[in-house]
Amino acid sequence: MLECEVPLLRRGDDAQGLTPDVESRRTRAAQCGATRALAVASGKGGTGKTTVAVNLAVTAARAGRETTLVDCDVEAPNVHLFLKPRVDRSEPACVPVPVVNEEKCTACGECGRMCRFSAIVSLKTKPLVFPELCHGCGGCALVCPTGAIAEGKRTIGRIDTGSSDGVRYVGGVLTIGEAMSPPLIRQVQAAAQGGGLAILDAPPGAACPAVETMRGADYVLLVAEPTPFGLHDLEIAVEVVRRLGLPFGVVVNRATPERPEAREWCVARGIEVLAELPDDRRVAEACSRGELAADAVDGVGRAFEALLAVLERRLQA
Ligand code: SF4
Ligand code: SF4
Repeated sequence: MLECEVPLLRRGDDAQGLTPDVESRRTRAAQCGATRALAVASGKGGTGKTTVAVNLAVTAARAGRETTLVDCDVEAPNVHLFLKPRVDRSEPACVPVPVVNEEKCTACGECGRMCRFSAIVSLKTKPLVFPELCHGCGGCALVCPTGAIAEGKRTIGRIDTGSSDGVRYVGGVLTIGEAMSPPLIRQVQAAAQGGGLAILDAPPGAACPAVETMRGADYVLLVAEPTPFGLHDLEIAVEVVRRLGLPFGVVVNRATPERPEAREWCVARGIEVLAELPDDRRVAEACSRGELAADAVDGVGRAFEALLAVLERRLQA
């Protein structure tokens, strides 16, 4: 088994991942080394979010931009299916866990009272540690009066890095059965150092993994589909992005003249619709073959060039 070489989470890192903190976002973006980070997100799965992210990344690279495509959907990564990167490096991703030295432990129970996740339990006994519940905050070690708690580490997945078509690729893969995806998402973002433009393919939905991804971005592109379900989930995603205090815009994917609801809903609320990508069977067929829509279908490439130009202006604003 590979040894963990990636940096462990720092003490004091936010274990909840839910606090709207623009300054923290900027700091982390700077840590990533990316001049600007664009999160491509959606309120639900199946909207074409990954298709948009991959096509944008390849379009940017072909236009001479230094581009990193980051697969933050660590529970179900699929960017690699479309980008087909050559993976040069694969390394384990770890989180810190407490290790108790029973000889030093006096069974005082302070660690158990400190832990809000019940990951360490002491009922007038030497503590029991439940590593899969631990968020790695380090609080138990800080309060232990005898210094009985040291830091171990636990592997939760891996981080792949490589490249394809001029695009640098960084992707996280969470171990099957592992629930702790936000720490891996943070590490994947940190591993995306050095890219001029970092495009973050977010997990679908509006739960912690999606929020964690968006917090690392300077701008959020929400991909919606013009169906009642799509509109419902877009409303939720918009609410999340607004609470995070991030600038954002919407792309309506598979748009048809018969279903204007998503665009009308955005316009009525002053939300910018950056593009409407038409419903085209050839795009779906290209995706099913793992091909880039921008290459496979006339006009789609130009649509992504136009979208990229708008996004670059928004990212510079
Ligand atoms: S066990 Fe310790 S490090 Fe883990 S979440 Fe609880 S207090 Fe934090
Ligand atoms: S705080 Fe330290 S001494 Fe007290 S029960 Fe926990 S490990 Fe033992």
